[in-house]
Amino acid sequence: MRRSRAFIPTTKEAPSDAQLASHIYLSRAGFVSQVASGLYNYMPLGKRVIKKIENIINEEMHFAGAQEVELSFVTPADLWKESGRIEKFGKELLRFHDRKENMFVLGPTHEEMMVDMVRNRVTSYKQLPLNLYQIKTKFRDEARPRFGLMRGREFIMKDGYSFHSSVEDMDREFDAMEAAYKKILTRLGLDFRIVEADSGAIGGSGSKELMVIAGSGEDTIAICDTCEYGANVEAASRSGRTNIPEAPIAEFNKFKTPDVKSIEDLENFFKVDGYYIMKCVAKRAVYEEESEIVLFFIRGCDNLQKVKAQNATGALDIVDVSEEELKELGIVPGFIGPLEQAKAKHVIDIDLKDAKHMICGANEENYHFINVDMSVMDEAYYFDIAEVNEGDACPCCDGKLSFTKGIEVGHIFKLGTTYSSALKAEFLDENGKAQPFVMGTYGMGVSRLVAAIIEQHHDENGCIWTKESSPYMVNIMISNVKDDAQVTLGEELYAQLQKANIEVMLDDRKERFGFKMKDAELIGFPYTIIIGKELENGLVQIFDRRANTKTDIDKNMIFSKIIERI
Ligand code: ATP
Ligand code: MG
Repeated sequence: MRRSRAFIPTTKEAPSDAQLASHIYLSRAGFVSQVASGLYNYMPLGKRVIKKIENIINEEMHFAGAQEVELSFVTPADLWKESGRIEKFGKELLRFHDRKENMFVLGPTHEEMMVDMVRNRVTSYKQLPLNLYQIKTKFRDEARPRFGLMRGREFIMKDGYSFHSSVEDMDREFDAMEAAYKKILTRLGLDFRIVEADSGAIGGSGSKELMVIAGSGEDTIAICDTCEYGANVEAASRSGRTNIPEAPIAEFNKFKTPDVKSIEDLENFFKVDGYYIMKCVAKRAVYEEESEIVLFFIRGCDNLQKVKAQNATGALDIVDVSEEELKELGIVPGFIGPLEQAKAKHVIDIDLKDAKHMICGANEENYHFINVDMSVMDEAYYFDIAEVNEGDACPCCDGKLSFTKGIEVGHIFKLGTTYSSALKAEFLDENGKAQPFVMGTYGMGVSRLVAAIIEQHHDENGCIWTKESSPYMVNIMISNVKDDAQVTLGEELYAQLQKANIEVMLDDRKERFGFKMKDAELIGFPYTIIIGKELENGLVQIFDRRANTKTDIDKNMIFSKIIERI
C-alpha cells in the first residue's frame, strides 16, 4: 500500500474519555473511530488486524477439527424464552419488534441459536461429536461500555459450541479447545495465563478464562508462586491458614463495647487479630422478581467476594443496603452477630465453620459476645464467600498466592446439558434412548484481543504490534521524495517485498521526515526501512520498533537483511 493513497487518519489528539493506552493509540493511529458509546468503526488498519486474528483462529480451529458456520445476528426472542435467559440477561439484550410485531434480540452470544440449528438435524450418537463455531458481531447493551474496544456494546466474538454423547467426550474436547486457544494466543505474541473461572449459576467444575496479563486488566487473578494454579478471584480458593494468630483466651461473655463498631476499632479495643472477629457484611440480594437482605459473615481479616456471594444466594445482583433498611428489620448495624437468623438470611463463610474464640456482635446496641464457639451453629448455611488474600496458601501446593491483573480474552466452559435440556435437543444413544446433548462452549473476544495486544505492547510513542498481528510488517520510508535516488530504491524495495509476499507500506508522502517517523512509531510497524541522506554513502537504516534501535545496512543488502529479521 502506498501511504499517499492510504486512509489512515492519524491525529495528535486522543478521545477525551480515553484512559487506556489501547484506546488512545488505536484511535490516534487511525485504527478505529468511535460512532457512539460502545460502537466503533474499524478503519483499514483496524480491519487488517481483525483479519489477522481471525485468520489465526480459523487456522487453529480447522486444525482442531472445528467447522465454521455463520448464524443470523438477529435472533427470535422465543428462543431466549425457551432457555429462560431472556430475564437472566436482562437489559443487556437489545430487543425490538419487526413490522409483524414479532420480538427479536440482537445476538449477545449464540448458545440457543446453535442448539436450535443442531436439534432435529443431529439425531444419533453416530453423528457426534460435533464442534461448530463462528466469528461474528455480537451486541450487548453493556451498562458501562468503556475503554474503547475492550468493552464495547457491539463487538466481535469467536464463539464455538461442541456437542457430545458423553461427559468424557466433552472433557476431551474441552482440553483440545484449551490447547487450541493457547496456540492462538501464543501466535499472537501474548503473555497470558489460563485460570479457573467462576461457573456462575450453571455450576460445574469446568470453566476457564484466558487472561492476558496487563496492569490495566479489569480482572484480578490469584496465581501461585510455586505451581501452575491460577484463578480469577471470583473463583479462587485457598488452603486453610497455617500461620494462625494467637487466640484470645476468655470465657463466653457479653461485653460492653460502646461505639466500637468497625473491625479496626474492635481489634484495638480487644487487642485481638481480625482473624478472631466476625465481620458481617449486610447486602441486598436481587433476584428476578424480588429481593431480600442477606447477612454475610466472614472473618475480620477477609473481604466478601461479590460473585461468590451471588453464587451462594443465587441472586442476579448483590447491592448495598442502608442502615435504615437494616433497622426496619430490627437489625442493629455495627453490632450484628450470627445468632439471630429469624430476622434475615445468613450466609457464613466456610472458614468460620467450627471456629472458636470468636468475637461477634450481640445484636444489641453497644454489645459484643466474646469467645463464641461456632460449632453451636452446625445447622447454619456455610459457603465459600471470602475473597482470597495475597499471601494465602495455594489450594494445590505449599506455595503462596499473589495477585495480578488480567484482561479476559477468552472463556471456555463445560456446559453439560443446560441448554440442550431446556431446548429439548436430543439424540438417540447406542441403546436407542433419547438423551440431551452434552455440550461445551468456547468464546474468544476478537475485537477485545486487538486492544489487549496493545495494552501489553506499547510505549509512550504508540503501538508496537507483534509479528502475527501487525497490519503491515514493513514500512519503507522515503525521507525526501524530491531525491530521485531515494525514490528509485524505495520503489524497487517496495516491488521486491510485495513479490516476496511481505505486507509492506511505502511512505511516499511529501512530508517532513520527523513527522513521518512519528507516524510510523504511532502506528507501530515492526520494521521501518529508512532511506535517507546516507544513501549517498550507500547506506540505509532498519528501525526496529520493539527494540527501538536503528541499524545501518548496506543498500545492496537491505532486502536480504529485512527478510532475515522477519
Ligand atoms: P466480561 O466479564 O468481560 O463482561 P463475559 O464473561 O461477559 O466478559 P463471555 O460471555 O464469556 O464474556 O464472552 C466471551 C468473550 O467475549 C470474553 O472472554 C471477552 O473476551 C469477549 N467479550 C465479552 N463482552 C465483551 C464486550 N462487551 N466487548 C468486547 N469483548 C467482549
Ligand atoms: Mg460481560
